[in-house]
Amino acid sequence: MEFLTKLDRWMPADIGAELHRFAAELYPICRSITGDGIRRTLALIGNRIPLDTANVPTGTPVFDWTVPKEWNIRDGYIKLAGSTRRSVDFQQSNLHVMNYSSPVHKTLPLSELRPHLFTVPEHPGQIPYRTSYYKEDWGFCLSHNQLLALEDGDYEVCIASTLENGYLTYGECHLPGRSNNEVLISCHVCHPSLANDNLSGIAVATFLAQLLTQGDHYYSYRFLFIPGTIGAITWLAQNREAATRIRHGLVLTCLGDKGGFHYKKSRRGDAEIDRVAQHVLSHCGETGEILEFSPYGYDERQYCSPGFNLPVGCLMRSVWGSFPEYHTSADNLDFIRPLSLAESLRVCAIIVDILEQNRRYCNRNPYCEPQLGRRNLYRSAGSEAVGTEISARLWVLNFSDGDHTLLDIAERAGLPFAVIREAAELLRQNGLLSVIPENGRET
Ligand SMILES: [Zn+2]
Repeated sequence: MEFLTKLDRWMPADIGAELHRFAAELYPICRSITGDGIRRTLALIGNRIPLDTANVPTGTPVFDWTVPKEWNIRDGYIKLAGSTRRSVDFQQSNLHVMNYSSPVHKTLPLSELRPHLFTVPEHPGQIPYRTSYYKEDWGFCLSHNQLLALEDGDYEVCIASTLENGYLTYGECHLPGRSNNEVLISCHVCHPSLANDNLSGIAVATFLAQLLTQGDHYYSYRFLFIPGTIGAITWLAQNREAATRIRHGLVLTCLGDKGGFHYKKSRRGDAEIDRVAQHVLSHCGETGEILEFSPYGYDERQYCSPGFNLPVGCLMRSVWGSFPEYHTSADNLDFIRPLSLAESLRVCAIIVDILEQNRRYCNRNPYCEPQLGRRNLYRSAGSEAVGTEISARLWVLNFSDGDHTLLDIAERAGLPFAVIREAAELLRQNGLLSVIPENGRET
């Protein structure tokens, strides 16, 4: 388990705290699907891993969509006319202005302002997160308590934003491996100050890329840091050739809360990544639930659109929309935990490790069982009994027929991949197995 050994060496005990610190560094930035917030975010990611940024001009057609105008914001507030005190202040929370609001500065009575105000009455202390990307509009989000505190009267509203021709920016970290076949890791970078839905995925993806830069690997890895939906559509529209090289893929999101893991399968449902994720979640020691594919959710929707049908699943802890903090100010830095982030990174690393190590072997002694006792392979940990290690050796010998991969054998034996892999390596060292070369995979 060369890769995982490296992980243990590289992963200090406080890796969770480091992941959390990185999320905290990104937290204050007001991100959106375009604009300076994304560029500042990509700059901070680029301090840690090799990152190329692409700027796609407004108006560029991308399949059925068009790259929108670029949005930037400096300030926003609501205050009672004539007052100096802001009732709602963008400087206090960037969630207060509806994301992509067009600029506005006027005075109007509360009754006319009211349709532009959004709250979550069932959680009166939380500020909701709202967007209006594809319809020019403006609005404010505030806690229901703040709304109730607004007295009747005229209000000055100001949103100092710009909505102009510019660029859609995304980041790409490409780590070449021995093979041109690629593993895609994708996360969205378009939410403002929201920790679990956005920053947890960014932090885990960044650290996973950092880990992969530590050594060589079979697959090439492509990490995408993109605005949700339009970013994935834009990347796919402009990288159709690269998309054909994707053999496995994961969308990472909501990986920092205290909930158990959820893996949403690719549209194919039986892709290797689906099986690997399922295997890892069943052996990782935490609860893990497998969800069937559905055409809503995160960017797996685009990767799994029928024209591409890429083997891309989605790994998360709590499922979007299922927790009360989702898309509100309560999805903050206290909602994500260092321990959860660290364990999420570990699960991602194990998934990558299995993809790297999953190969086929050939039994060089297929006529009846080879005599393991003579080779000192029929005992484990001082015991003659058929323990897990011996059982793994027998499974590997029996199914190393050139057809079954190590994952096939692990699934069939109900044993962790690591145990099967270790058995195969031991048997190979003893001359009982040989690796079947597959696209240079024997190395
Ligand atoms: Zn979201």
